[in-house]
Amino acid sequence: MQKCPTCGGDLFTEILDGKFFLTCKVCEFSKLKNCLKVNQIYAFFSVNKDDDIEGIAAFVDRGIVIPLIAADKSRLEELKLIAHDMAKKEGMALKLVKFTNREEMEVIGSDGR
Ligand SMILES: [Zn+2]
Repeated sequence: MQKCPTCGGDLFTEILDGKFFLTCKVCEFSKLKNCLKVNQIYAFFSVNKDDDIEGIAAFVDRGIVIPLIAADKSRLEELKLIAHDMAKKEGMALKLVKFTNREEMEVIGSDGR
């Protein structure tokens, strides 16, 4: 949970007039919450040595397949460590690729159905 820069209290998310605010219940500090939009995707591709075919690299954690895809720099740095580890252990090549072309294709749920 984020902390209030004024008093160190916990910041809570509140919605006012359709906008998200982070507010402190101790000192009444309030600021507009940054609503992060994903405008780039980072993906690690594994590359088959024989035919150069690429695929999204993934690892398995407790039975769940987790693709190496990130939308922000901090997650990217976490995945880089995993990618280096995978490349070393599996003796494979991994490519880091950034995509920046966004096209909203469909909205599922809420008003989009
Ligand atoms: Zn405060």
